[in-house]
Amino acid sequence: MTPVPPRLEIKDLRRAYGGRTVVDGVSLSIMPGQVTCLLGPSGCGKSTTLRMIAGVEMQDSGTIHVDGKLICDTIFRIPPERREIGLMFQDFALFPHLSVADNVGFGLKKGRKAERRARIEELLDRVDLKRFIDGYPHQLSGGEQQRVALARALAPRPRIMLMDEPFSGLDNRLRDGIRDETLSILKEEDTAVLLVTHEPDEAMRMADEIALMRDGKIVMQGAPYNVYTRPVDRAAVAFFSDANVIRAQVSGALAQTPFGRFLAPGVPDGTWVDIVFRPQHVRIDFDRAGKGPLPTAIDGTPARAVVERARFMGSESLVEFVMDHDGSRLKATVPNVFMPQPGAVMWLTIPRDRCFVFPVKEGDHG
Ligand code: ATP
Repeated sequence: MTPVPPRLEIKDLRRAYGGRTVVDGVSLSIMPGQVTCLLGPSGCGKSTTLRMIAGVEMQDSGTIHVDGKLICDTIFRIPPERREIGLMFQDFALFPHLSVADNVGFGLKKGRKAERRARIEELLDRVDLKRFIDGYPHQLSGGEQQRVALARALAPRPRIMLMDEPFSGLDNRLRDGIRDETLSILKEEDTAVLLVTHEPDEAMRMADEIALMRDGKIVMQGAPYNVYTRPVDRAAVAFFSDANVIRAQVSGALAQTPFGRFLAPGVPDGTWVDIVFRPQHVRIDFDRAGKGPLPTAIDGTPARAVVERARFMGSESLVEFVMDHDGSRLKATVPNVFMPQPGAVMWLTIPRDRCFVFPVKEGDHG
């Protein structure tokens, strides 16, 4: 059996503006029904990548294939309107003078009137807005308008949907519901989706695969669980959550710290490493407050710390500590309510299976 080609495949896309490379060799492929999130900080080149795929921006090099067919390289180029790609942006701008039905039907040039009407009704039903079919955009709330925009983008049955921060204009309360609804419609339509976002939560919630982008390059790619639990570097940890960092020097493939020794396999002697761990993985020894460390600890040596402050965050509490050994600060989160008094002494350990050891790179601040 011939393998099915990816719905969208981009290879080595590059784009520079005025001599500055903003997209630097981006490659990825997306299967039908798959949602890939291009996640990265502002200015890393996400939207430029999307615009090249849409065809409104020309790449300097690289290729774009849809269902195995070349749609664009540096010589050959199918125009945007013939790419069968749906677009959804933050400012989704419905046509104010057109009814909801006409907005949704805007891209349905072909086909008989009855068929067009049936598709419009089907989609409005799907986004639960059929009752507004003869209404106008100004009569709808922001969330409802967003759903009309989704129906409009989906009406011509695009093979690919490109979405650039499509939910960022909505308030938090609406956002989760619309995200989930959008996702289930896109899956049902078997559309391949490339969604651009700078919000890790959004990517974790929506994506089958996350492509983490930085300075024009994809630095890692994979299922959300893998990207979160096997980060490639310190910045990749910090992009998803707060991160604590301890710097130490390696000797005999071990990094010695006040929390005990950490394995640093393959790292040459004398190399500085950052030991990086998330606040939720710090283990606090509550009961031993003021009593000194346990004689033996499963996960290295407990280090003495003083509570600087504690804040209740809703589902968890955030406790900030000052470490005794060097005055550095360390954050820990604890489920539910844990509000120790400032000045309380506690002992902290770092589970070895929850921390990452990375050789220090230029630009990593200690
Ligand atoms: P954001 O999340 O803020 O939208 P982004 O990751 O989508 O950011 P891009 O919009 O792709 O980033 O922009 C990447 C870089 O390219 C930015 O530094 C931007 O200023 C620059 N850039 C984008 N379009 C142009 C243009 N037409 N001319 C010159 N520079 C541009």
